[in-house]
Amino acid sequence: MRPPSLFPLFAEVSTLKGVGPKILPLVQKLAGPLVRDLLFLSPSGLIVRRPMTAANAVEGLVGVFDIVIDRLLVPGKPGVPIKVRATDDTGFVHLIWFGGSAQHIDRLLPKGQRRLVSGKVERFNNEVQIVHPDIFTPAQADEIAAVEPVYPATQGLTSRVIRKLAQGALEQAPELPEWQDAAWLAKRRWPGWRAALAALHAPTAEPDLLPDAPARQRLAYDELLAHQLALARRRRARQITPAPVVTPGEASTRVLSALPFELTAAQLQALAEIRRDLASGEQMGRLLQGDVGSGKTAVAALALADAAASGFQSALMAPTEILARQHFQRLSPMLEAAGVPTILLTGRDTPAERRTRLGALASGAARVAIGTHALFQDAVRFDSLALAVIDEQHRFGVNERQRLQAKGDPRTGGVHLLTMSATPIPRTLELTQYGELEVSRLTEKPPGRTPVTTAVVPQARIGEVAKRLKAALDSGAQAYWICPLVAESEASDLAAAEARAADLRRIMGVEVGLAHGQMPGPEREAVMADFADGRTPLLVATTVVEVGVDVPNASIMVIEHADRFGLAQLHQLRGRVGRGTAASTCLLLYGGGDDGLGETARIRLETLRRTEDGFEIAEEDFRLRGGGDPLGLKQSGFPAYRFADPIRHRDLLLAASDDARLVLGRDPDLTSPRGEAVQVLEALFDWRNDRPGAD
Ligand code: ADP
Ligand code: MG
Repeated sequence: MRPPSLFPLFAEVSTLKGVGPKILPLVQKLAGPLVRDLLFLSPSGLIVRRPMTAANAVEGLVGVFDIVIDRLLVPGKPGVPIKVRATDDTGFVHLIWFGGSAQHIDRLLPKGQRRLVSGKVERFNNEVQIVHPDIFTPAQADEIAAVEPVYPATQGLTSRVIRKLAQGALEQAPELPEWQDAAWLAKRRWPGWRAALAALHAPTAEPDLLPDAPARQRLAYDELLAHQLALARRRRARQITPAPVVTPGEASTRVLSALPFELTAAQLQALAEIRRDLASGEQMGRLLQGDVGSGKTAVAALALADAAASGFQSALMAPTEILARQHFQRLSPMLEAAGVPTILLTGRDTPAERRTRLGALASGAARVAIGTHALFQDAVRFDSLALAVIDEQHRFGVNERQRLQAKGDPRTGGVHLLTMSATPIPRTLELTQYGELEVSRLTEKPPGRTPVTTAVVPQARIGEVAKRLKAALDSGAQAYWICPLVAESEASDLAAAEARAADLRRIMGVEVGLAHGQMPGPEREAVMADFADGRTPLLVATTVVEVGVDVPNASIMVIEHADRFGLAQLHQLRGRVGRGTAASTCLLLYGGGDDGLGETARIRLETLRRTEDGFEIAEEDFRLRGGGDPLGLKQSGFPAYRFADPIRHRDLLLAASDDARLVLGRDPDLTSPRGEAVQVLEALFDWRNDRPGAD
């Protein structure tokens, strides 16, 4: 419910003075439909006007000249601008218009009249000139602002007009109760909300435009806090949904002792967090984040065993057939041995298999279902589903996850959700993208891994690379060879990959598999399976090497045109090797011909050479994009913030996240004075209707 104090801000922009039918669509497009949206439109620049004379005019700055109109020098015609000469005591100032009517200008500037003109000073043939000046009569002198904010303008809507409208919107802005913590606000020395908006629209110097200006920080924090509150609320809504109480039992112990290794400290920690949620009686929503090879599957296996031990069913869903099979092959022997009947459900089951398996799930004879998209289809019924584990969660839509979760028994409550991701992301991104989930991180890899030696090699030395590769293949190694998307069209990329595969087949004299994105799924999986089973020693692939595929014998990764990949992507690719006991190598080939390596590309490759820590790489990737790649950020799941910049306001984001938890923790119904103020803040930004992608 929207508090009445906000009604003026949630009025249509058309209610503002000066918004006629002609500019209405332009304003809506530029700012948004509401008065609030104009109020939240930040100036992007600043004009400082200085009084000047013809003699002391400074080129490039904006001057105000007190002049008398002398005469129309050039009346203008197509291709030639209109030119009016004016004078002050010190010399001439020429006023220029491209297009427009000389008659109109003559009427505006009658000979002998005094005017104040303002605009950016230029020099042409050593004469002072102003193109398209702003003109004021002496009576209007106090309308000339010494400092004026500049707004993003659009065709048909000048910055001037927007400024007037923004001022109108500001007049509609009420004083609102303070929602920020008093001590925090005092410490940051930020203005109150309304004062911050007034300052936003009235910058007096360049620093006022920077993200760390107090007013801008304050508004950014408000926005981040509102968003984090919305996410925290969703988290709470889930938490008050009852769900089956799941605790470890004998099956868990048996699976644990069947694992051929000891869990790492990170795995134990994540498992403890998951078990705390599962036993709480509240619905779990947790993301298990860990680099490729960090051992997420074992953690998931224990959660599946816990569900079985507590008398419930569970499901593990993977995005591809090959991954689902791999999970099934690894987990079902352990689960079965622990007395937990496990089935595989994929799109490739025969009708008879399918019928039997669906029957086993519905009757409760099967306790764990491992599978693909086949799992959430309508025909799939569970007897007592308590836990859904989703591997590579970003490969599924929100709907698909919800369809699986909806298969629980309403009498026992909601289905616990454990999602897993092998894409380490910076904490900032985690908070905005997954803010409503709890997060466990596997920050440590299982022991016994041989680090991958990474080398950065110019493409020109590809012949040498091939020679070394041949020697390695001859002694029984397996290798990936990655061809990126380099050409304009997919068809020619494909041709390049095919040509490369043919080259390598000839040079190496071995079977070479080729996997690419345009292959039908089953065909591609067959190629992958040949490689996984060691039938082909070398696999040429475009970027589609399946995430999560584990071929321990593969110890060499060659990536062509590595400089054209993103950092995170390179890290993912490299993660395919270094999984076995053999020492592994990753060769990053860069540049074609003699085009040098750009600075960012160089830092990327160097970062990769230096570290294998996915979280560190993610932070660095994030930082490198900070130079301005709003598109990239959007793609990585950032909501469209108006004031906040998740990179520059990183610290504010972390603080806002803590703050949101604290506020709701102390005052869940938001009835305290601060709680009530916080409700106004939430209504002001209205994140509920404005959701970023993932959950
Ligand atoms: P991911 O997190 O990428 O899904 P996996 O679960 O597939 O990683 O694990 C990668 C490999 O590491 C598997 O071969 C698995 O058996 C092994 N592994 C997992 N945990 C440990 C551990 N604690 N000690 C040794 N090996 C482990
Ligand atoms: Mg995995």
